[in-house]
Amino acid sequence: MNFTTILTHWYSVNKRDLPWRTTKNPYHIWLSEIIMQQTQIKQGLPYYDAFVTNYPTVFDLAHAHEQDVLKLWQGLGYYSRARNLHASAKYIVNDLNGEFPITYLEILKLKGVGDYTASAISSICFNEPHAVVDGNVYRVLSRFFGISTPINSTQGIKEFKSLATTLLDTKNPGDYNQAVMEFGATQCKPKNPDCNVCPLQDSCVALQKGTVDVLPVKLKKTKVTKKHFNFLVLISEDKKTIFEKRSSKGIWQNLYQFPLIESDIEIESKVFEKHPLVKDYFKTTEFSFSIFNPEPIVHKLSHQHLFTKFWIIEVKTLDKESMPISEVKNYPTPILISNFIDTFDFPF
Ligand code: SF4
Repeated sequence: MNFTTILTHWYSVNKRDLPWRTTKNPYHIWLSEIIMQQTQIKQGLPYYDAFVTNYPTVFDLAHAHEQDVLKLWQGLGYYSRARNLHASAKYIVNDLNGEFPITYLEILKLKGVGDYTASAISSICFNEPHAVVDGNVYRVLSRFFGISTPINSTQGIKEFKSLATTLLDTKNPGDYNQAVMEFGATQCKPKNPDCNVCPLQDSCVALQKGTVDVLPVKLKKTKVTKKHFNFLVLISEDKKTIFEKRSSKGIWQNLYQFPLIESDIEIESKVFEKHPLVKDYFKTTEFSFSIFNPEPIVHKLSHQHLFTKFWIIEVKTLDKESMPISEVKNYPTPILISNFIDTFDFPF
């Protein structure tokens, strides 16, 4: 038996029972693929269930308010995925009469869909012969064939895509694609793969050469920058606060947050009132303050580490842009802020 036959057979026996494996509905497969990007199955499953329950059809998603979609996505990170899902649902309903696109090239036109997702949907739902290459596939192929070309280099991306395409079971591309991804996720895992019970062990180059632990090779990531975030949790005597929508482009676009002061270095409590950015923010407003977390909470994003402090600021009154504190829980926020809201003892 060759690589492709062994994997497809392995999959038929070992595949996990997951809700999107019982359907070929492209809308549901699309939801599952977008939700599961950069996400562990265990974390993503409840989100998939929630989206299918709240928005059973592409029409339901298209007609939803973006704020509600972001709220449902809260905690999953990479919020552009939710914004793109929503925008694409509107495009499908408004421009395609609600018909989900049925070819690789048409699926590729959806916002937030790249080669991987278009290959997955078109092969699983429409039997198109497009090979998927995700992190699991890179790992399995680089180990089994002993390939050390960096997987995030231009050459590596081409080489692995071309190899994956030659290995594809063109009669059954959807099952084969899922087989190789599942094999990478549960058998040929990043750490401690089960080589002893692996059906590919006789021909696996990495196992024979002792290079399992060093494959796949990845070029070093860009430098991670450090930022200092100071959120001002304003509380007025009539229990109102300011909770603003982030309109600027970026991963947190359209999510809500307390007013933010970004500083080059950490602001200590003893200099808080005198800090130029704080003085500038409050100008003539009198306030008293305390610090919620003297030690910054470090929130790690792919290219940035956010050293975050929440400052509790008591003021007499707030302007008309304010809202009752009890309402902040209703808005979509970055997980960093929702964790704070869940922990802090607000005077509701
Ligand atoms: Fe992966 Fe080990 Fe199997 Fe090779 S033998 S494919 S490294 S699990």
